[in-house]
Amino acid sequence: RVNIKRISTGVRSLDELLNGGVETGAVTEVAGEFGAGKTQFCHQLAVMVQLPEDRGGLNAKAIYIDTENTFRPERITQMARARGLDPDQALKNIYYARAYSSDHQMILVEQARRIIKQDNVKLLVVDSIVAHFRAEFPGRENLAERQQKLNKHIADLLKIADAYDVAVVVTNQVMAQPDVFFGNPLRPAGGNVLAHGATYRIWLRKSKENIRIAKIFDSPYHPEREATFKITEEGLTD
Ligand code: ADP
Ligand code: MG
Repeated sequence: RVNIKRISTGVRSLDELLNGGVETGAVTEVAGEFGAGKTQFCHQLAVMVQLPEDRGGLNAKAIYIDTENTFRPERITQMARARGLDPDQALKNIYYARAYSSDHQMILVEQARRIIKQDNVKLLVVDSIVAHFRAEFPGRENLAERQQKLNKHIADLLKIADAYDVAVVVTNQVMAQPDVFFGNPLRPAGGNVLAHGATYRIWLRKSKENIRIAKIFDSPYHPEREATFKITEEGLTD
């Protein structure tokens, strides 16, 4: 594609890992254990997308579909303030919706598409993409049905990313696997659900205290590198 646009993560090391930031026209999966920083990453992008282009943003709005009730307006306010944005305006620039089931989540994505058609939205977050699907289709016996539905959901998201040149970011909670720590490509537990859907996959893991480590996997465009960042009051920082 020509003229790819990117949303800066606000973290130099992460931007370097991502060749400048999270791409529009693509679906980026952020995977990792509970507490790895997936939700914080999404909050930060919802603020960063609002910045002018010369500061790494796209001067645009975000849509945030929250399936686990972990969106925190006050966290957005903190991050916005740290970037010199008006906190109230920053919140107004985020369309927020809580998804109560996998069906509801898919309906919300269709509603998001209609908003994106009409408004200047450049980021669509689904945090987390798989939680409802896992809860509603537990066990091996439901795996095929779950996978089929999830594939449709991911296809819908890819279409939106492509048709409207929006960055789609989804989170996927996965358990740590020993091979991750030895630098091998990640194969998340519970089925490699998004491997053939997401355009890019970022793996986050905890290090000491507030330090986190990010890695990209399964990408022909990104080298096998790692980036270190911190989660602080200001948000994600170098
Ligand atoms: P995940 O979504 O991957 O489960 P989160 O994105 O919710 O994880 O990350 C949670 C971590 O973010 C917590 O361990 C906490 O240390 C950090 N965090 C959240 N809010 C703040 C804050 N206001 N100041 C500093 N760190 C924070
Ligand atoms: Mg989370």
